[in-house]
Amino acid sequence: MDAQSKQTLLRGSSVLQKMAEGEPAIWINPKLRPAEEALSSLPLTKADIDDAEQRLRRFAPYLKKRFPETAERGGLIESPLREIPAMRAALAGRGAELPGRLFLKQDSHLAIAGSVKARGGIYEVLHHTEQLALANGMLQDGDYTALLGEDARALFRRHTIQVGSTGNLGLSIGIMSAAIGYRVIVHMSADARQWKKDLLRKWGVQVVEYAAEYSEAVTKGREASDADPMSYFVDDENSKTLFLGYAVAAERLKKQLAEQGVVPDAAHPLAVWLPCGVGGAPGGIAFGLKHAFGDAAHCFFAEPTQAPCMLAGMATGLHNDVCVQDFGLTGKTHADGLAVQRPSGFVGGMMEPLLSGDITLRDADLYDYMRLLRNTENIFIEPSACAAFAGPDRFLAAQEGRDYLSVHGLKAENLTQIAWATGGALVPEEIRQEYEHTYLR
Ligand SMILES: *Cc1c(COP(=O)(O)O)cnc(C)c1O
Repeated sequence: MDAQSKQTLLRGSSVLQKMAEGEPAIWINPKLRPAEEALSSLPLTKADIDDAEQRLRRFAPYLKKRFPETAERGGLIESPLREIPAMRAALAGRGAELPGRLFLKQDSHLAIAGSVKARGGIYEVLHHTEQLALANGMLQDGDYTALLGEDARALFRRHTIQVGSTGNLGLSIGIMSAAIGYRVIVHMSADARQWKKDLLRKWGVQVVEYAAEYSEAVTKGREASDADPMSYFVDDENSKTLFLGYAVAAERLKKQLAEQGVVPDAAHPLAVWLPCGVGGAPGGIAFGLKHAFGDAAHCFFAEPTQAPCMLAGMATGLHNDVCVQDFGLTGKTHADGLAVQRPSGFVGGMMEPLLSGDITLRDADLYDYMRLLRNTENIFIEPSACAAFAGPDRFLAAQEGRDYLSVHGLKAENLTQIAWATGGALVPEEIRQEYEHTYLR
């Protein structure tokens, strides 16, 4: 982007000005449309989400055997929904306006990968595996546990799976692919933590390390995979399969909310706060939520002040034609799962009529929220995941939040808020200790 276009964009938007100064911002999407109208205009449908759910059910008997920790949920990878009243009270005690109920969706505790990537990442590996098996005359009798057998494993050994990642996607794709029997290469950006690389190597995964940022790791990974006819590339920036794997979360959440006595409607809606990197995970989940709840779901993304790539893409309408460096930001953040400098154009397009808005926060706040949750609810989630608390903490007390409620005719006390905790369970104890003692100002 040239200097003149940047100046024009900044002059037209106080949110972009704040963003470019590295200040916390709240952006409300002026292109949000009524859910029904928005969803009917998009290239993916409810039938696509149902197809993904059905595929995951077909794989459940396999997962139950291969990963016994999934057995208690019948081979489905799903996370608890937990009300966090003590965290709510603590946030309110610090000045947050939070009259309604507050829940934590604990994707931090998803089986196998310990992060939201256990949804999309694992789903895409299973999707590819089903296609490969069917093309090779397997699974004809519908018995997916046959994939544990030596014939199947011999087939998968001849195939490679590759992915570019800041860490958690690499973990999810790497562990699942290695478990099935593939050769796996994970291309890790500079932000990726050492323990994630170590864990993958223990699974026999080849980890290629880059000194460069996320987009570069993805580009290099894509090139390496394209050069090998036996290799499949999981494309975090463009994959519809990943996106649909995430979307499955919503119908399951509906059941969990009902068990807690929450049945959202237009006057008693959900506000869902989703930490956002390249956009696939929060975008897929938001897409599912709009299908499951319609206008009773208000979906917001949360991003670091130095890496607000989705905000930059959506507020300018330029999507993947813009990156955070275009606005003079560093793209660097302690939130390794969100350390993405250029958003997915595919997700940006899907979100244009569906997303309610985006909130950004400083890295220092990630650690404060992390400690607050640990101290009030005795739950650990990783710093990236703590971005979700920026919404419950700041939105309703801000002018942007008050205006949003009034435009939509909503009462704050009727809002049920969900902080989507996107990762944490696999973080080793010594790293948790390091986080615990990290104070930034
Ligand atoms: C990957 C990730 C996200 C965001 O997902 P994207 O698909 O990159 O937007 C959020 N939180 C954590 C912990 C993650 O690993």
